[in-house]
Amino acid sequence: MNVAIVTVGDELLAGRTTNTNATWLSEQLTERGVSVERVTTVPDRISDIARVVNEYRAEYDAVIVTGGLGPTHDDVTMEGVAAALGCSLETHDGALAWLEEDGYSRADLTAGTADLPVGARPLHNETGVAPGAVIESVYVLPGVPAEMRTMFDSVADEFSGTQTYREVVVADEPESALLDRITAVRERFEVSVGSYPGDSVRLSLEGTDEETVLTAAAWLRDHVERTE
Ligand code: ATP
Ligand code: MG
Repeated sequence: MNVAIVTVGDELLAGRTTNTNATWLSEQLTERGVSVERVTTVPDRISDIARVVNEYRAEYDAVIVTGGLGPTHDDVTMEGVAAALGCSLETHDGALAWLEEDGYSRADLTAGTADLPVGARPLHNETGVAPGAVIESVYVLPGVPAEMRTMFDSVADEFSGTQTYREVVVADEPESALLDRITAVRERFEVSVGSYPGDSVRLSLEGTDEETVLTAAAWLRDHVERTE
């Protein structure tokens, strides 16, 4: 299964908020064997949200959108998603009923709080107010990290893929000097190799067979220099 993540918010693009939601979601999905193919941040603007969601839902098995769910003027994500799917927004009675069970009265709630795209499956917000929604393959979650995590956990089982295994080998050689060993390990074993330079070079080996990944990592460790 492959997925695209769309994070919505002017404050993300301005660098005022660090996009921890994208990192957390990518990690959760990757752990489940789901391939995350895109992480895109768009402003709080209906047309931008609609364009990206529409493109990604055609391309990927699922799209996860977070942020901009509240009922204030700058929260337009539901409108953007509805526009992408060519449907309108409608107050969802089930979502309103949940909020009433949580102690909110209809009169207290800002107008539009429970407005979801027509035909959506509502997702209860256990740690906040604004409900999320699933429409076709598009999952709409809140921006507040704690709310987003709890809501994702409630649908996490709908995301699955091929289990992959990963081992990291650390090398204290210039990255360019390691090219021959990287080529060799890829030729010998069914693994993909990522190279991440920093103080040392971290070589990440990944594959679908655990034994193969472990053997490849052991081979590579024997063939690179390491100064502890
Ligand atoms: P609310 O209903 O509270 O308005 P919301 O779903 O509309 O929530 P936003 O208004 O987009 O969410 O964001 C609320 C707060 O959540 C932001 O001020 C920011 O602190 C945090 N937040 C939003 N998006 C992200 C993100 N991608 N990564 C980390 N934090 C985020
Ligand atoms: Mg908001």
